[in-house]
Amino acid sequence: MLLETKNLSKNFKQVQAVKDVSFGLDAGEVLSIIGPSGSGKSTLLKLIANLEQPTEGDIYISGQSIQSADKKTKRALYQSMGFIFQDFALFEHLTVKENLELAPKLVYKKNQDSISKETNRLLKLVGLEDKIDAYPITLSGGQKQRIAIARALATSPKILLFDEPTSALDVKSIDDLVDIILKLKKAQIGILIVTHDLRFAKLVSSRLLFMKNSSIIFSENIQNIENFEQIFDDFLK
Ligand code: ADP
Ligand code: MG
Repeated sequence: MLLETKNLSKNFKQVQAVKDVSFGLDAGEVLSIIGPSGSGKSTLLKLIANLEQPTEGDIYISGQSIQSADKKTKRALYQSMGFIFQDFALFEHLTVKENLELAPKLVYKKNQDSISKETNRLLKLVGLEDKIDAYPITLSGGQKQRIAIARALATSPKILLFDEPTSALDVKSIDDLVDIILKLKKAQIGILIVTHDLRFAKLVSSRLLFMKNSSIIFSENIQNIENFEQIFDDFLK
Protein backbone atom coordinates (compact mmCIF):
# COMPACT_ATOMS: atom_id res chain seq x y z
CA MET A 1 0.00 0.00 0.00
CA LEU A 2 1.37 3.41 -1.00
CA LEU A 3 -0.46 5.38 1.65
CA GLU A 4 -2.42 4.29 4.69
CA THR A 5 -4.02 6.19 7.54
CA LYS A 6 -4.80 4.36 10.77
CA ASN A 7 -7.34 5.80 13.23
CA LEU A 8 -6.39 9.34 12.31
CA SER A 9 -7.99 12.07 14.44
CA LYS A 10 -7.55 15.82 14.69
CA ASN A 11 -9.04 18.14 17.29
CA PHE A 12 -8.99 21.92 17.13
CA LYS A 13 -9.86 22.90 20.74
CA GLN A 14 -13.56 21.94 20.98
CA VAL A 15 -13.94 20.93 17.31
CA GLN A 16 -13.16 17.36 16.30
CA ALA A 17 -12.36 17.96 12.62
CA VAL A 18 -11.26 14.40 11.80
CA LYS A 19 -12.41 11.39 13.78
CA ASP A 20 -10.89 7.92 13.60
CA VAL A 21 -10.24 7.84 9.84
CA SER A 22 -8.61 4.72 8.36
CA PHE A 23 -8.15 4.04 4.67
CA GLY A 24 -5.54 2.94 2.15
CA LEU A 25 -4.40 4.11 -1.28
CA ASP A 26 -2.69 1.82 -3.80
CA ALA A 27 -0.45 2.64 -6.74
CA GLY A 28 -2.54 3.37 -9.83
CA GLU A 29 -5.61 4.14 -7.75
CA VAL A 30 -7.60 7.38 -7.73
CA LEU A 31 -9.43 7.85 -4.46
CA SER A 32 -11.90 10.71 -4.08
CA ILE A 33 -13.13 11.97 -0.75
CA ILE A 34 -16.57 13.48 -1.04
CA GLY A 35 -18.60 15.16 1.67
CA PRO A 36 -20.44 18.29 2.72
CA SER A 37 -18.68 21.48 3.69
CA GLY A 38 -17.17 21.27 7.18
CA SER A 39 -17.01 17.46 7.21
CA GLY A 40 -13.23 17.42 7.68
CA LYS A 41 -12.00 16.74 4.12
CA SER A 42 -9.38 19.50 3.92
CA THR A 43 -8.13 18.77 7.43
CA LEU A 44 -7.68 15.11 6.53
CA LEU A 45 -5.67 16.10 3.45
CA LYS A 46 -3.55 18.51 5.53
CA LEU A 47 -2.78 15.77 8.04
CA ILE A 48 -1.56 13.56 5.22
CA ALA A 49 0.47 16.40 3.67
CA ASN A 50 2.16 17.26 7.01
CA LEU A 51 0.50 20.70 7.11
CA GLU A 52 -1.30 19.74 10.35
CA GLN A 53 -0.27 17.23 13.01
CA PRO A 54 -2.73 14.51 14.10
CA THR A 55 -4.08 14.41 17.65
CA GLU A 56 -4.21 10.63 17.37
CA GLY A 57 -3.43 7.91 14.85
CA ASP A 58 -0.68 7.42 12.29
CA ILE A 59 0.08 7.68 8.60
CA TYR A 60 2.06 5.05 6.69
CA ILE A 61 3.85 5.84 3.45
CA SER A 62 4.97 2.74 1.55
CA GLY A 63 4.48 0.81 4.78
CA GLN A 64 6.62 3.10 6.92
CA SER A 65 5.11 4.81 9.95
CA ILE A 66 5.44 8.60 10.04
CA GLN A 67 5.07 8.75 13.81
CA SER A 68 7.99 6.43 14.49
CA ALA A 69 10.25 7.75 11.70
CA ASP A 70 13.31 9.87 12.52
CA LYS A 71 13.61 13.35 11.00
CA LYS A 72 15.58 12.26 7.94
CA THR A 73 13.28 9.33 7.12
CA LYS A 74 10.25 11.56 7.60
CA ARG A 75 11.61 14.06 5.10
CA ALA A 76 12.27 11.31 2.56
CA LEU A 77 8.76 9.90 3.05
CA TYR A 78 7.14 13.30 2.55
CA GLN A 79 9.24 13.87 -0.57
CA SER A 80 7.41 10.96 -2.19
CA MET A 81 4.23 13.05 -1.98
CA GLY A 82 3.15 16.02 -4.13
CA PHE A 83 0.43 18.48 -3.14
CA ILE A 84 -1.58 20.57 -5.62
CA PHE A 85 -2.99 23.48 -3.64
CA GLN A 86 -6.37 25.00 -4.33
CA ASP A 87 -4.75 28.31 -5.32
CA PHE A 88 -1.91 26.45 -7.15
CA ALA A 89 0.79 28.38 -5.19
CA LEU A 90 3.04 29.02 -8.19
CA PHE A 91 6.02 31.36 -7.72
CA GLU A 92 4.76 34.45 -9.54
CA HIS A 93 8.21 36.00 -10.06
CA LEU A 94 9.53 32.85 -11.77
CA THR A 95 8.83 31.54 -15.28
CA VAL A 96 7.14 28.18 -15.84
CA LYS A 97 10.54 26.59 -16.48
CA GLU A 98 11.98 28.08 -13.29
CA ASN A 99 8.93 26.99 -11.28
CA LEU A 100 9.40 23.41 -12.45
CA GLU A 101 13.17 23.33 -11.98
CA LEU A 102 13.53 24.94 -8.56
CA ALA A 103 13.06 21.82 -6.42
CA PRO A 104 15.01 19.43 -8.68
CA LYS A 105 17.94 21.87 -8.59
CA LEU A 106 17.91 22.87 -4.93
CA VAL A 107 16.65 19.77 -3.20
CA TYR A 108 17.70 16.97 -5.50
CA LYS A 109 20.80 18.57 -6.99
CA LYS A 110 20.25 16.91 -10.37
CA ASN A 111 22.31 18.05 -13.36
CA GLN A 112 20.86 20.68 -15.71
CA ASP A 113 20.71 18.33 -18.70
CA SER A 114 18.44 15.77 -17.06
CA ILE A 115 16.41 18.55 -15.42
CA SER A 116 15.75 20.24 -18.79
CA LYS A 117 14.75 16.95 -20.36
CA GLU A 118 12.32 16.27 -17.53
CA THR A 119 10.86 19.80 -17.77
CA ASN A 120 10.12 19.25 -21.46
CA ARG A 121 8.59 15.83 -20.78
CA LEU A 122 6.35 17.17 -18.02
CA LEU A 123 5.18 20.21 -20.00
CA LYS A 124 4.29 17.88 -22.86
CA LEU A 125 2.39 15.64 -20.44
CA VAL A 126 0.22 18.57 -19.34
CA GLY A 127 -0.01 19.99 -22.88
CA LEU A 128 1.78 23.28 -22.20
CA GLU A 129 5.16 23.01 -23.98
CA ASP A 130 4.61 26.45 -25.49
CA LYS A 131 4.38 28.08 -22.05
CA ILE A 132 7.89 27.19 -20.93
CA ASP A 133 9.07 30.82 -20.69
CA ALA A 134 5.74 32.33 -19.62
CA TYR A 135 5.12 33.92 -16.23
CA PRO A 136 2.18 32.57 -14.17
CA ILE A 137 0.28 35.87 -14.41
CA THR A 138 -0.18 35.31 -18.17
CA LEU A 139 -1.80 31.88 -17.67
CA SER A 140 -5.47 30.95 -17.23
CA GLY A 141 -6.65 29.14 -14.07
CA GLY A 142 -6.64 25.77 -15.80
CA GLN A 143 -3.16 26.37 -17.22
CA LYS A 144 -1.81 27.41 -13.81
CA GLN A 145 -3.17 24.24 -12.34
CA ARG A 146 -1.52 22.11 -15.04
CA ILE A 147 1.79 23.86 -14.31
CA ALA A 148 1.27 23.18 -10.60
CA ILE A 149 0.76 19.49 -11.47
CA ALA A 150 3.90 19.45 -13.64
CA ARG A 151 5.86 21.12 -10.85
CA ALA A 152 4.63 18.56 -8.31
CA LEU A 153 5.66 15.78 -10.70
CA ALA A 154 9.17 17.24 -11.15
CA THR A 155 10.28 15.61 -7.89
CA SER A 156 8.93 12.19 -9.02
CA PRO A 157 6.32 11.67 -6.29
CA LYS A 158 4.51 8.35 -5.89
CA ILE A 159 1.47 10.05 -4.37
CA LEU A 160 -0.38 13.19 -5.46
CA LEU A 161 -2.87 15.06 -3.29
CA PHE A 162 -5.47 17.44 -4.71
CA ASP A 163 -7.74 19.74 -2.68
CA GLU A 164 -10.89 20.76 -4.62
CA PRO A 165 -9.09 20.73 -8.00
CA THR A 166 -12.15 21.70 -10.05
CA SER A 167 -13.43 24.55 -7.91
CA ALA A 168 -11.88 27.33 -10.03
CA LEU A 169 -12.15 25.66 -13.46
CA ASP A 170 -14.48 25.89 -16.46
CA VAL A 171 -15.86 22.69 -18.01
CA LYS A 172 -13.17 22.45 -20.72
CA SER A 173 -10.38 22.79 -18.15
CA ILE A 174 -12.05 20.13 -15.99
CA ASP A 175 -12.03 17.74 -18.95
CA ASP A 176 -8.32 18.47 -19.54
CA LEU A 177 -7.67 17.74 -15.87
CA VAL A 178 -9.57 14.45 -16.14
CA ASP A 179 -7.28 13.40 -19.04
CA ILE A 180 -4.14 14.27 -17.06
CA ILE A 181 -5.28 12.44 -13.93
CA LEU A 182 -6.12 9.33 -15.93
CA LYS A 183 -2.64 9.44 -17.51
CA LEU A 184 -1.03 9.68 -14.06
CA LYS A 185 -3.19 6.84 -12.81
CA LYS A 186 -1.93 4.73 -15.72
CA ALA A 187 1.63 5.65 -14.72
CA GLN A 188 0.90 3.99 -11.34
CA ILE A 189 0.81 7.15 -9.25
CA GLY A 190 -1.57 6.99 -6.28
CA ILE A 191 -3.94 9.94 -6.31
CA LEU A 192 -6.05 11.29 -3.47
CA ILE A 193 -8.62 13.96 -4.30
CA VAL A 194 -10.90 16.01 -2.08
CA THR A 195 -13.85 17.27 -4.08
CA HIS A 196 -17.51 18.13 -3.94
CA ASP A 197 -17.76 17.79 -7.74
CA LEU A 198 -19.73 14.58 -8.39
CA ARG A 199 -19.39 14.61 -12.17
CA PHE A 200 -15.62 14.97 -11.91
CA ALA A 201 -15.34 12.31 -9.18
CA LYS A 202 -17.30 9.88 -11.34
CA LEU A 203 -14.97 10.45 -14.30
CA VAL A 204 -11.63 9.96 -12.53
CA SER A 205 -12.08 7.84 -9.43
CA SER A 206 -11.46 4.17 -8.83
CA ARG A 207 -12.98 4.43 -5.36
CA LEU A 208 -15.00 6.94 -3.36
CA LEU A 209 -14.93 7.74 0.34
CA PHE A 210 -17.89 9.62 1.74
CA MET A 211 -17.12 11.80 4.71
CA LYS A 212 -19.65 13.28 7.11
CA ASN A 213 -19.32 14.75 10.61
CA SER A 214 -15.53 14.16 10.57
CA SER A 215 -15.75 10.42 9.81
CA ILE A 216 -15.78 8.17 6.78
CA ILE A 217 -19.32 6.86 6.62
CA PHE A 218 -19.16 4.91 3.37
CA SER A 219 -16.51 3.65 0.96
CA GLU A 220 -17.12 1.89 -2.35
CA ASN A 221 -15.43 1.03 -5.64
CA ILE A 222 -16.78 3.14 -8.46
CA GLN A 223 -17.96 0.17 -10.55
CA ASN A 224 -20.15 -0.98 -7.65
CA ILE A 225 -21.95 2.32 -7.43
CA GLU A 226 -25.04 2.15 -9.59
CA ASN A 227 -27.07 5.09 -8.49
CA PHE A 228 -24.53 7.67 -7.63
CA GLU A 229 -26.90 10.56 -6.98
CA GLN A 230 -29.11 8.36 -4.79
CA ILE A 231 -26.18 7.40 -2.57
CA PHE A 232 -25.16 11.03 -2.39
CA ASP A 233 -28.68 11.99 -1.32
CA ASP A 234 -28.96 9.18 1.22
CA PHE A 235 -25.62 9.73 2.90
CA LEU A 236 -24.83 13.35 2.59
CA LYS A 237 -27.98 15.38 2.73
P1 ADP B 1 -14.14 20.55 4.69
O1 ADP B 1 -12.85 20.65 3.94
O2 ADP B 1 -14.82 19.22 4.56
O3 ADP B 1 -15.08 21.66 4.35
P2 ADP B 1 -12.54 21.24 7.02
O4 ADP B 1 -11.55 20.16 7.17
O5 ADP B 1 -12.07 22.50 6.39
O6 ADP B 1 -13.84 20.69 6.26
O7 ADP B 1 -13.14 21.61 8.45
C1 ADP B 1 -13.65 20.63 9.36
C2 ADP B 1 -14.00 21.29 10.68
O8 ADP B 1 -12.82 21.71 11.34
C3 ADP B 1 -14.85 22.56 10.54
O9 ADP B 1 -15.73 22.60 11.64
C4 ADP B 1 -13.83 23.66 10.62
O10 ADP B 1 -14.40 24.85 11.11
C5 ADP B 1 -12.82 23.09 11.59
N1 ADP B 1 -11.44 23.60 11.35
C6 ADP B 1 -10.69 23.40 10.24
N2 ADP B 1 -9.49 23.98 10.35
C7 ADP B 1 -9.47 24.59 11.57
C8 ADP B 1 -8.49 25.34 12.30
N3 ADP B 1 -7.30 25.60 11.78
N4 ADP B 1 -8.84 25.80 13.53
C9 ADP B 1 -10.05 25.52 14.07
N5 ADP B 1 -11.00 24.80 13.45
C10 ADP B 1 -10.73 24.33 12.22
MG1 MG C 1 -12.27 21.96 2.36
